[in-house]
Amino acid sequence: MPNAPHAAPALAPTRHAEIAVIGAGVIGLAAALRLAQAGREVVLIDPEKPGSGASFGNAGTIADYAVLPVAQPGLLRDLPRLLTDRDSPLALRPRGLWRMLPWLAAFSWNCLPHRCRANAAALAEMLADAGRRWQELAQAAGGGDLLKDNGCLYLIESESLARSGAADAGFRRRYGVQLQELAPPEVAALEPALPAVAGGAHYFPTAMHVTDPGAMMALLADACTRQGVRFIAARVDALTPFAGGVELQAGGERLHAARAVIAAGAASAPLARQAGERVLLDTERGYHLEFDMPAPLLSRPAASAQGGFYMIPMHGRLRVAGAVELGGTSLPPDKARLATLERGARRFFPDLPAPSRSWSGFRPSVPGMLPLIRRAHTHPQVVLAFGHGHLGLTLAPLTAERVAVLLDGGESG
Ligand SMILES: Cc1cc2nc3c(=O)[nH]c(=O)nc-3n(C[C@H](O)[C@H](O)[C@H](O)COP(=O)(O)OP(=O)(O)OC[C@H]3O[C@@H](n4cnc5c(N)ncnc54)[C@H](O)[C@@H]3O)c2cc1C
Repeated sequence: MPNAPHAAPALAPTRHAEIAVIGAGVIGLAAALRLAQAGREVVLIDPEKPGSGASFGNAGTIADYAVLPVAQPGLLRDLPRLLTDRDSPLALRPRGLWRMLPWLAAFSWNCLPHRCRANAAALAEMLADAGRRWQELAQAAGGGDLLKDNGCLYLIESESLARSGAADAGFRRRYGVQLQELAPPEVAALEPALPAVAGGAHYFPTAMHVTDPGAMMALLADACTRQGVRFIAARVDALTPFAGGVELQAGGERLHAARAVIAAGAASAPLARQAGERVLLDTERGYHLEFDMPAPLLSRPAASAQGGFYMIPMHGRLRVAGAVELGGTSLPPDKARLATLERGARRFFPDLPAPSRSWSGFRPSVPGMLPLIRRAHTHPQVVLAFGHGHLGLTLAPLTAERVAVLLDGGESG
C-alpha cells in the first residue's frame, strides 16, 4: 500500500520550497513562470540545461489544428504499409518493444472510432485558444519576435492522398478547426520555392510557429529567474509524499515542498509511481535535421502528408522534423530515421546543402494522446503535468494555467 501518507521523514531537510516543479522542459518552465507570476515560491529542478529535451528539438508549430489524434482508426488500417515502407514515418525497434505491449494495447483501443472521437473533442477544447495563450507567454518571456503567426501548410502530394485528406479536413472542421483547401497554384503563391504539389494543400491560417524553440526556452528560463524561480541543477531520484507535503531527493540533498509538480516529460512515470500513480507513459522518439541557410526557403511550416514530417523555417536554417519511433529511451539514435527525413526533404528541395546537424529526442506519450494534467488521486499535493506527446509546445501555456488552478485547489477543466 504505497498510498497512505506517512509522517514527515526524521532527518532535517536541507532546503524548503512552497512548490517544487520537477523538469524544466516547456511544461515545467511555463508552469513555474505562471506560478511565480501569481506570487508563489517556486523551485524548478532539472539536471540538464532548461528546455534542452524534447522542448528544444521539436517542429516549433503551435498546432491549434491538431484535433485529429495520432490514435485513429485509419492508423490501424495503414499499419502494414507503415511498418514495411522504408520511407514511413513510423518505426518499431524490436529490442525495446516487449516492454511497450500494455501501452500498445491501450493505444490500439484508443484507435477505435468512438475513442478517437472522444479524444478529438477533448483535444479541440484544449487547442481552441492555443495561439492567444502562446502570444501571452511569448510576450511575458520577451520572445514575441520568435513567434510567427502566418499559418501552416499540410502538403497533399498525390491524388490518392487528396481523398484521405478530404476526410481529414471534414473531421477537423467538425471540431472547429479553420482550414482552407488550396489548389496547387494557391500553394505556389504562398510558398514560391516549393515545387508543384499535385493535390494542393490544407492551410491552417490560425496556426503559429516558433522560429527557434531553443532560444524561446532560454527566454522562458530567464523570465522564470527574473520572476524569482530558483533553479536546482539536479535529478530528482526519489519523491516521497508525507502528510504536509512532499520530500524530494535530488543531487544528494533533500528538499521539502508543500506541493510538487511532475513535469519530467518522458521520464515522469517512475516519479508518478512514487506518488501512487501507475500511468501508461512511454515515448515516441522523434528526430530532426537542420540545413543552415540565410533564407530558409519557406515562410511557414509545411508538412508532408505522405512523409509525416515538417519542414520549418527557423532562424538561419531549415529544420526538418518528424518520425515516430517506438522502442523506449535506452537505444542509440537510428541513422535510418535521419536518412528517411533527408530523402523526404530532398523530394521537395533537391538542392539542399548537406545537413548541418541532427538531433533526436523523446515525446512523452500516453496512449490516448491526451496529457495528464491532474492531482495524484491519493496524494493531491502532487500534480501530474506530462504526457503531451506531439503537442507539448502547443499546450504548454494551457497546461501552466491548469496546473495553477489545481494547486489552488480548483479543478482543471
Ligand atoms: C521531432 C518532434 C517534433 C515535435 N513537434 C512539435 C510541434 O511542432 N508542436 C508541439 O506542440 N509539440 C511538438 N513536439 C512535442 C513536444 O516537443 C513535447 O511534447 C514537449 O517538448 C514535451 O515537453 P516536456 O516539458 O513535457 O518534456 P521535455 O522537454 O522532454 O522536458 C522534460 C525535462 O525533465 C527533465 N527530467 C527528466 N527526469 C527528471 C528527473 N528525475 N528530475 C528532474 N528533471 C528531470 C529532463 O531533463 C527535461 O529537461 C515534437 C516532438 C518531437 C520529438
